[in-house]
Amino acid sequence: MTNIAIVGSGPSGCYLADMLAKKLKDARIDVYDRLPTPFGLARAGVAPDHQGTKNIIKQLERTFARGNVTFVGNVTVGKDVTYSELKEHYDAVALTVGAMQDRSLNIPGDELNGVYGSGAFVGWYNGHPDYSAQVAELNSKAIAIVGNGNVSLDIARVLAKTESELASSDISKAAASIISATPLQDIYLIGRRSPADASFTNMELNEFAELERCVTLVNADDLPANMPESTDPMRAREVENNLATLRGFSENNANDKPIRLHLLFNSAPVEVLGDDSVQGLRLAKTKIVEGKTALTDETFDLDVQTVISAIGYRSQAVTDAPFDDARGIIPNEDGIVEPGVYTAGWCKRGPQGVIPANRMDAMGVGKRIIADLEQNPSQAPTSGFDAICPLLDERQVRTVSYTDWEKINAEEVARATGDKPREKLTSIAEMLALLD
Ligand code: NAP
Repeated sequence: MTNIAIVGSGPSGCYLADMLAKKLKDARIDVYDRLPTPFGLARAGVAPDHQGTKNIIKQLERTFARGNVTFVGNVTVGKDVTYSELKEHYDAVALTVGAMQDRSLNIPGDELNGVYGSGAFVGWYNGHPDYSAQVAELNSKAIAIVGNGNVSLDIARVLAKTESELASSDISKAAASIISATPLQDIYLIGRRSPADASFTNMELNEFAELERCVTLVNADDLPANMPESTDPMRAREVENNLATLRGFSENNANDKPIRLHLLFNSAPVEVLGDDSVQGLRLAKTKIVEGKTALTDETFDLDVQTVISAIGYRSQAVTDAPFDDARGIIPNEDGIVEPGVYTAGWCKRGPQGVIPANRMDAMGVGKRIIADLEQNPSQAPTSGFDAICPLLDERQVRTVSYTDWEKINAEEVARATGDKPREKLTSIAEMLALLD
């Protein structure tokens, strides 16, 4: 029998497991995750009000219905079981650990209370156990969000929505009540380049036209009169649509709704102001020098009490596995990390692309694994989980099976009130107590 270990049960790990399970009928595929819950960013990264996108979980669930795929939850590779133990006992190991570590703003004051990275902030409102106590209160009249990607839009939208607009989301109960208690009046979304360079997509931008209590404002002078040249027709269409939406927003009236979302462009943060906690954000206007964004001497301050940076992610290194610290990814050549070890998804390519892009990526890596197993079969039979299970028992690790997860899932669904699809358990201890 061929034994394959996949580390990380997010979309990339599940798609890879699914593909391998279909093609290698005699293989056993064990999907390890450090959390007792599967599905990674599909559960804890996708915005809680984007339930359509979260529905992808239904597809991922089918992977674990295959007889030859096992979920091994609550096991941290590198701590509970080592990277070399996996390599020793499996024919192939794939690292699909995603990327949820925040990149730092690297400016003075970025350590102040009230500064959050998007991974931590999104994890918080999504009920991720690592971040459930991240935000005790927001208590902010004004919040700055740095970055012009879809994550920054997700955060702005979740903050701007009313309780009733979030009623059918799976936002954590604690986060929903902290957000609704915040005397929010202004949200600033800060792009260091021009509106045409923003990486957010038009469907997501258009959602701001519909919000109950929030009006989106753009300074018409920031919008280019002509479309910038582009060699990529898809990108050109996206930019054109974004500029049309932004032109519409530039005609909005600031007094129309109680919360204003200000889209600021060509501005980058240079200092978070305050002693212990955030009292403001200093920005510098930017200009393009030799194709790169550079700061000018022109600065201005925003009177904000919370700063959230949504400027991209890094992967977390798997202890003892190769890691490119500068790029925050697992170094690889077309998905190959070292003989018998592979990687797919955001930890392979960096945090770019939506879930279907990770599916494509996982398919490519899966084909490579199958080809390598055919060309270079293991010299001696491996024992896979039969060898790992006693090690975990010896180390008193409480593994969580897929059946255990189904109990957690049922409890979350049962706890939901009103239109909520689920009320997440937000601590690992609470999940394990339910099982034991
Ligand atoms: P992203 O699209 O790469 O956006 C990151 C933003 O941060 C960019 O605007 C970037 O500006 C800016 N930035 C980086 N470093 C900065 C700095 N030091 N100071 C100021 N700004 C800085 O990343 P993301 O928003 O994290 O999204 C990750 C991926 O997930 C994307 O592919 C996204 O489309 C996807 N996603 C999709 C959805 C959806 O479809 N609804 C939702 C969430 C995420 P520059 O461009 O100048 O570098």
